[in-house]
Amino acid sequence: MTTTENSVVYMDNNATTMVAPEVIEAMMPYLTDYYGNPSSMHTFGGQVGDAVKTARKEVSQLLGCDAEEVTFTSCGTESDSTALLAALRAAPEKRHIVTTRVEHPAIKNLCENISSFTGHKYRVTRLKVSDEGLLDLDDYAKALTEDTAIVSVMWANNETGVVFPIEEMARMAKNRGILFHTDAVQAVGKIPINLKELDIDYLSLSGHKLHAPKGVGVLYVKKGTPYVPFMSGGHQEDGRRGGTENVASIIALGRACRLAGEMMEEENTRVRRLRDKLEDGLLSSIPRSLLNGNKENRLPNTSNISFEFVEGEAILLHMNRYNICASSGSACTSGSLEPSHVLRAMGVPFTAAHGSIRFSLSTYNTEQEIDFVLGKMPQIIADLREMSPFWPGE
Ligand code: PLP
Repeated sequence: MTTTENSVVYMDNNATTMVAPEVIEAMMPYLTDYYGNPSSMHTFGGQVGDAVKTARKEVSQLLGCDAEEVTFTSCGTESDSTALLAALRAAPEKRHIVTTRVEHPAIKNLCENISSFTGHKYRVTRLKVSDEGLLDLDDYAKALTEDTAIVSVMWANNETGVVFPIEEMARMAKNRGILFHTDAVQAVGKIPINLKELDIDYLSLSGHKLHAPKGVGVLYVKKGTPYVPFMSGGHQEDGRRGGTENVASIIALGRACRLAGEMMEEENTRVRRLRDKLEDGLLSSIPRSLLNGNKENRLPNTSNISFEFVEGEAILLHMNRYNICASSGSACTSGSLEPSHVLRAMGVPFTAAHGSIRFSLSTYNTEQEIDFVLGKMPQIIADLREMSPFWPGE
């Protein structure tokens, strides 16, 4: 991607990512020549079945698990729902869920409406986070009870990039005989994961966050862990998920996982350096700008910065004039003036939470793009502050 005034400077990779050219190349034959059904008896279908098998292996290698523990789904949200509901059905006598206040709506809203899915009332403990978005393991230990059916905690936060101590949390749940799910949609491909060494029972991931297309995900279920399909149907996915496989996207996800494994070092060095350059540049050149989230325990690609006394959506509109894409933590388009539940849980003051912008990079971002954004942002914020009746001046 280039950085002329007419091209897109894409810094919204936690929302979705560009499909990698190698991934498109790998999936295309399965939209054109190899269109057979992987369940068919003939060789034509069998070839497709073999390709799905390879993709499953590639996913398992990135996760450090067995291929049989990988079930393809339609998205991260489906994986999250499947895991949670399977765990609750496995322990019908238990009526308590432990989660956090900063989960993605895929888990947050499911927990809020859990009785409509299960027909039972559940007590839900939502762990609080510190002003830097971190969890307190003592609070967590106290939240686990005899009645807890499942813990569901995201590996990395989509808004701030803050990474939770999932290894330790899974171990603590295991010691209490409690099932553990992690929504790793933002973590997979960005930080190393080796499920063989961990006590995680269920893990969700989503293809479109790691340079595969939208509409494909994975649910990892540890061997021996209780499992109930989310929907009933054919024998696909070893009976774990009925429905003819989304073959081309599955092949794409396999290739994307292979690429992610190969590029992990790069993500952790080059992308981190670009992110830090962007972050340091913005914080030092724009007065009253603040970092949201712990600086150390964080994904290498994410930076969430509040620009006090300006509205996030107004900032985005001005950025959009230069084709700079990012996200805002405020939610005015939804008709509410409430800032994001994540920033609220962290206690970010109102004047800062409203002006938060999430920059999320990928391996396709360039130094030139960082310089371009650093060149534009101070003026954008200064112009908006000039118009703001709330801006008290520097
Ligand atoms: N969980 C997290 C942490 C996410 O960031 C997202 C997407 O933004 C999801 C779940 C949902 O994934 P999908 O869009 O594949 O349903």
